[in-house]
Amino acid sequence: MYPPEDVAPRVVYLVVFHLSFVMFVWSYWKTIFTPPASPSNEFCLSKADKEQYEREERPESQQEILRRAAKDLPIYTTTASRAIRYCDRCQLIKPDRCHHCSACDVCVLKMDHHCPWVNNCVGFSNYKFFLLFLMYSLLYCLFVAATVLQYFIKFWTNELPDTQAKFHVLFLFFVAAMFFISILSLFSYHCWLVGKNRSTIEAFRAPTFRNGPDKNGFSLGCSKNLREVFGDETKYWLLPVFTRETCKLYRFALSSLQNGRFPACRELGESGRKVVRQGAPCAYRCTWLEAAWRAASTGK
Ligand SMILES: [Zn+2]
Ligand SMILES: [Zn+2]
Repeated sequence: MYPPEDVAPRVVYLVVFHLSFVMFVWSYWKTIFTPPASPSNEFCLSKADKEQYEREERPESQQEILRRAAKDLPIYTTTASRAIRYCDRCQLIKPDRCHHCSACDVCVLKMDHHCPWVNNCVGFSNYKFFLLFLMYSLLYCLFVAATVLQYFIKFWTNELPDTQAKFHVLFLFFVAAMFFISILSLFSYHCWLVGKNRSTIEAFRAPTFRNGPDKNGFSLGCSKNLREVFGDETKYWLLPVFTRETCKLYRFALSSLQNGRFPACRELGESGRKVVRQGAPCAYRCTWLEAAWRAASTGK
């Protein structure tokens, strides 16, 4: 349209523009097409339990069945009325931080929200991609607005050649600036959530642990919370690839709990299968289960 006169800025503009555009499209794509993660089969009721649950009419007896089924599962949170969190629709005991999405009609692990902009649930499987998508769209809008700014100023001082293209400058600047401002507020909010290790749902309603609602129940401190979402290896933080290796076991053992000790993640590698008698396939990478356990046990 109105390219800079020198070659150097042209090259820089081209490189930065395409780089931010590619990263933006890549993370957007991953956010849209990564299916939400659902709880593993261990959280479903057994056939016998399901039949018994359906036969029972009294909520107390139903809760008793659920309590029995949830005994060996690593669950630390309940409903506000201290009942086991159960999804009638999927017929499963909800793991901590899991919520049923009515739009996807499925229980979603660490559900954050259902996002109409990406027509997908944002949760455990794609939260990192969602954040990168916001970040790269910000960068993209900022770059467009910044490079158009000088022509935008010229538009108002009547220094632009009188062609149709001068209205493109106006439009481009306003759209880029508008998106930048609206995404900035959303991105800042999510940065705050990541720092606190909260999902949007938990920010509105604190999860209930043994000793009551605790909005910081999953927090491990800012740096660890960041790693919860972006993974341990900083070199992958800016790439929309899944870096939270899902462990094969819930790092949880009843025996450890009884000993008053939560097993460290590294203690439960493949060999953990032998140690953890009731180990179920992992729903999450469990460092924040450690926080949940701490929150739960302070009430003891
Ligand atoms: Zn469900
Ligand atoms: Zn959904």
